[in-house]
Amino acid sequence: MRGEVLEAMLPYLTEHYGNPSATYGLASEAANAIAIAREQAADLIGAKPHEIFFTSGGTEADNWALRGALLLVETSMRTAEGKSKRHIISSRIEHQAILRCLKRLEEEGLAEVTLLPVDREGLVSPADLKDALRPDTILVSIMAANNEIGSMEPLAKLADLTHEAGALFHTDAVQAFGQIPLDVKKLGVDLLSASAHKIYGPKGTGMLYVRETIPFRSMIQGGAQEKNRRAGTENVPGIVGFGAACVCAKKTLPDRMRREGALRNLLIKRAEEIYPAARLNGPRPKGVGLAHRSSLLEQGTRDEEGPGKMPDWRLPGNVNICFPGKSAELLLIMLEAEGILASAGSACASGSLDPSHVLSAIGLSEDDNRASLRFSLGEETSREEIEKTADALERILK
Ligand code: PLP
Repeated sequence: MRGEVLEAMLPYLTEHYGNPSATYGLASEAANAIAIAREQAADLIGAKPHEIFFTSGGTEADNWALRGALLLVETSMRTAEGKSKRHIISSRIEHQAILRCLKRLEEEGLAEVTLLPVDREGLVSPADLKDALRPDTILVSIMAANNEIGSMEPLAKLADLTHEAGALFHTDAVQAFGQIPLDVKKLGVDLLSASAHKIYGPKGTGMLYVRETIPFRSMIQGGAQEKNRRAGTENVPGIVGFGAACVCAKKTLPDRMRREGALRNLLIKRAEEIYPAARLNGPRPKGVGLAHRSSLLEQGTRDEEGPGKMPDWRLPGNVNICFPGKSAELLLIMLEAEGILASAGSACASGSLDPSHVLSAIGLSEDDNRASLRFSLGEETSREEIEKTADALERILK
């Protein structure tokens, strides 16, 4: 967490401990602090403060977006063909906060779900979305950027198509929020989830942006907090810290993007020199070797628009590389012994690694899936650390 963030939070853990819903004077300090944080969070995505609703994190915001969309339609609402309106479209590479919630909604008989495929770079094709949209589709939920391979989706195009079909568009922006420019109005998204801890804020705080014209209802019942939309006493220090983290993120965003992007490119280049069979998973940044031509590139979609007209379609801080013939699990252990923490697949109940559903969705075999490593770069990552990582990889791989 950032020092500035902790400093902003501390008074709300100590002297300003009032409950914002109370009527005594102490309450107004907490209530005012939440109002300021709401402005700060809104400002980072071009929203209005009253469109921001604080949650316990990205997972709650994602669950609320999906369940809230279903709450908007009456169970009795039917299409001309007599189908009840409860079809939701998402993608195969979403975070489990979306995928598991969708599965549960299907099990509960509340939703019918279509998961769109992605191309080998992890991008959803607008043509596929067009084909999947139906008269009974109520919501399309596509992540802004993927947490494993850093691919950024063509949100504006996908949101346009969704609106033409009369449905709402939600994006899980947990990985993109504060990392790349995002403007909800320009992108045309109706709902957006974000999380504080991805931008050096406190863990356990997040938000859902809800476009002001949508009468979204609360997913949990209780008090009248967050204008009756999210019951429960607010996590005041968390929300204040989230607001402070948004201010820092906005200020530092262009520099971080440039710096992290350059370091990411350096790590990819070094890894490919060290191990010529290495293959980058996810979109290839411009200027780093030969870009493979994705189907979206051929359709011209990528150059027309992107979140904030990005120089490339990969998150600045994400590197995910397959080292064919190697075991990612073993590489992780050897890297950790050199003080380098990376990740791979997802931890399963037994403590070992399950293959990643994202890497499977972009077409990797199980062997290549188990040979892939992810490196996450942050604002404190230095060139020396990248060189140290590349040197360690060289020793370990050889
Ligand atoms: N969505 C994505 C894409 C994520 O990467 C994460 C967390 O890493 C989440 C949702 C869940 O967010 P939180 O941990 O704040 O609940």
